[in-house]
Amino acid sequence: MDVSARRAFHLLKDLAFERLSASEDERRAAERLMAEARSTGAEAHIEEFQVPCGKVKSARLLVTAPYRKEYPVTGYERSLSTPGLDAPFYYAEDMQPVHLQNAAGKIALINGRLRRADYEKLQKAKVAAILTFSGTTLDRESETDCDIRKLRETLTEPFGGAVALNLRAADAAEIVRRGATQMHIEIDSESCEGTSRNVCATIPGTEFPEEIVSFGAHFDSVHFSTGVYDNMSGSVIIMELLRYFAAHRPARTLKFNWFGSEEQGLLGSKAWTAAHKDELEKHVLMVNVDVAAATLGQNRAPVLATEAAVGYIDAMMKEAGIPCQVKLDIYSSDCVPFADNGVPAVNFCRFGAPGANYIHDRRDSLRSGYIDEKSLDITLQQTLYFAKRVVNARAFPIERTVCQDIRDKVDSYLFRKKD
Ligand SMILES: [Zn+2]
Repeated sequence: MDVSARRAFHLLKDLAFERLSASEDERRAAERLMAEARSTGAEAHIEEFQVPCGKVKSARLLVTAPYRKEYPVTGYERSLSTPGLDAPFYYAEDMQPVHLQNAAGKIALINGRLRRADYEKLQKAKVAAILTFSGTTLDRESETDCDIRKLRETLTEPFGGAVALNLRAADAAEIVRRGATQMHIEIDSESCEGTSRNVCATIPGTEFPEEIVSFGAHFDSVHFSTGVYDNMSGSVIIMELLRYFAAHRPARTLKFNWFGSEEQGLLGSKAWTAAHKDELEKHVLMVNVDVAAATLGQNRAPVLATEAAVGYIDAMMKEAGIPCQVKLDIYSSDCVPFADNGVPAVNFCRFGAPGANYIHDRRDSLRSGYIDEKSLDITLQQTLYFAKRVVNARAFPIERTVCQDIRDKVDSYLFRKKD
């Protein structure tokens, strides 16, 4: 049994639907992946975990002075509710001290994503509500969506809840341009718990069964996105690897994990690493595949280990004739909880080139014409070449070390305070 990009791309097409964290569709995708994994003869099962969710029943925003107009908005999931809040509007831009000094009690619009440091500043400044915008001022309403965002626990736990809404960039620009001073907002929102899933498969090693190499790829997507690039591409690549190693038994034990809820803050891989501490001790490496198949693109391999591991992987890629920039770096994906537990990790990705790279919105779709089977095969062959070499090596070639620089990056990524 050899790997097949054609078969992989067929599976990708079958699973090209929105797969939101803890949704019925995420469950449906998990079951399909499990059935596919079992069809290789490998043991496979689903592991459930709980995730914080939110339902927004309705959200409204009206400018009330100096003109009156209602704008379409989405409420942040897990936002606080308000039956009606009337307050001055304030454009707090990038939250400089001058902005924050003047923001108390106001409905504050900010630039960009609501990051944790921004949220902390806004909460300390005692704003009445938070507005963000998404997309570009060029967006046409018929061709784009007003993004639905979430107040994650990493924000609300340390800094408390808030009323938060998102609107379109073009509307935000109009509101600022027309000099809005007063607003009325409403949101009916509810926080709840949902069930998300990881799909897990194992192939026992023939010679060194106590040493584990695990392969990971997240299979969830975000609102409005079918996530074919991010990350059904990686999901089907590791499925082909499972198929290969089920037929060509490896010297070391292999684990394959398709993680749910990655897009909500790596929740699937965090749940898996928390539930499998004993196995983590036996892990010698984690290989993660997150985004591939871009027709116009470039290959990247961020390594969360040591410079020696980078040199080894870089040399191997050159030997194989696979162009790839290998670098010691963190990568925002399921490799992080593994590195956090001392397990070296490597990511194989093919990023879309500028102008051919759509992620986290409706354009991450087969209709966008930016991914294809031949390009999927690049990362498939790359990951297979690497995997065959390391899982069957006489002595494991990568030291079980995550260097201090990467450990520091992981700590700050996971919002840990430095001593
Ligand atoms: Zn991803």
